[in-house]
Amino acid sequence: MAGFPIEPAGRIKTLPPYLFAAIDEMKKKAIARGADIINLGIGDPDLPTPAPIVERMRQEAGNPKHHQYPSYEGMLSFRQAVADWYKRRFGVSLDPADEVLTLIGSKEGIGHVPLAFVDPGDVVLVPSPGYPVYPVGTSFAGGTSYMMPLTKANHFLPDLQAIPKDVARKAKLMFLNYPNNPTSVTAGKDFFKRVVEFANEHHIIVCHDAAYSEIYYDGRKPPSFLEADGAKEVGVEFHSLSKTFNMTGWRIGFAVGNKQVLAGLGKVKSNLDSGVFQAVQEAGIVGLRDGDALAEGIRAVYQERRDALLPGLARIGLEVEPLHAAFYVWVTVPKGFTSAEFTALLLERTGIVTTPGNGFGEAGEGYVRLTLCTTKERLLEAVSRMDTIGF
Ligand SMILES: *Cc1c(COP(=O)(O)O)cnc(C)c1O
Repeated sequence: MAGFPIEPAGRIKTLPPYLFAAIDEMKKKAIARGADIINLGIGDPDLPTPAPIVERMRQEAGNPKHHQYPSYEGMLSFRQAVADWYKRRFGVSLDPADEVLTLIGSKEGIGHVPLAFVDPGDVVLVPSPGYPVYPVGTSFAGGTSYMMPLTKANHFLPDLQAIPKDVARKAKLMFLNYPNNPTSVTAGKDFFKRVVEFANEHHIIVCHDAAYSEIYYDGRKPPSFLEADGAKEVGVEFHSLSKTFNMTGWRIGFAVGNKQVLAGLGKVKSNLDSGVFQAVQEAGIVGLRDGDALAEGIRAVYQERRDALLPGLARIGLEVEPLHAAFYVWVTVPKGFTSAEFTALLLERTGIVTTPGNGFGEAGEGYVRLTLCTTKERLLEAVSRMDTIGF
């Protein structure tokens, strides 16, 4: 910050360097030279929010009772809709009074939960590769992230037995995320059961991020962490309408499960924010209550895109992980390249923007992430452009 005499706080200065800065720079140059960019870098649905949800928002925005501060924990009617949806979708019972907390998007809750439970010196178990908010939220609370590598050999599930005993002893929290960003892998109930046992043994709070539970393929519904016996005693699940209903811009999500954990997070929130605009909660209720068919329509679009892209990538000789859920394609970079080099090659030679795997943590090196957040036509165009490189 040239010319500004005051140093930023240590927690800002120690943030990892912005790995995507170099790509942004290359992208700008490519646009400047008139390249036709295909952006497979962003994890943000390109489709609009379904009309019935938007329509409810239109009606509720004019209601003066929504123009005042909402309650920080969310309207009871919204939390009831979350509980009803969990029962219907997962067979999990939740008390809307104290087992559901409304969030300003799930990122807000994920970023804030370490403030409620992590002190300096405490350890947080974090998946690598993973959503950068887990280690950053940990570091803002003064905690230390212990990276759990997700590798192909372990089916991109953390090896709990490989976590050293002294690390497990100091750990307060564990972040998990299935269906997974960036690998798109799903976890089964047997894995969640082992997580509950591990958490009980070491007194660790489990924070499971289920943002992608409704983006799945071939009718294979991913389970909730809360379906595992005893899960509600050790943890919470973060969820969101962002991906299910193309609502990333609306900022509404929720956390469910252990009431002591939610009370801790709620205490942080009540001191920092004032909840979600009630008209947005009303619109969210429409999605949760009446939105099964809407979500099905969205899934069908991704399924068509996946079924077009994956065989195309295989045909041109790229190795990709199978895609059962979420909308990310985890591609092994061809021999002789690093993640960053391969990302740069694709951008410079084909105008395709991807994300280097190491941007999600060291264990992501050797991969790039593509997204399905563009049309089938553009995805097929991307394949034919990549084919010109020749792998
Ligand atoms: C997109 C995403 C979310 C959802 O974030 P919101 O704040 O609810 O929009 C959460 N976790 C992961 C891993 C994501 O990729």
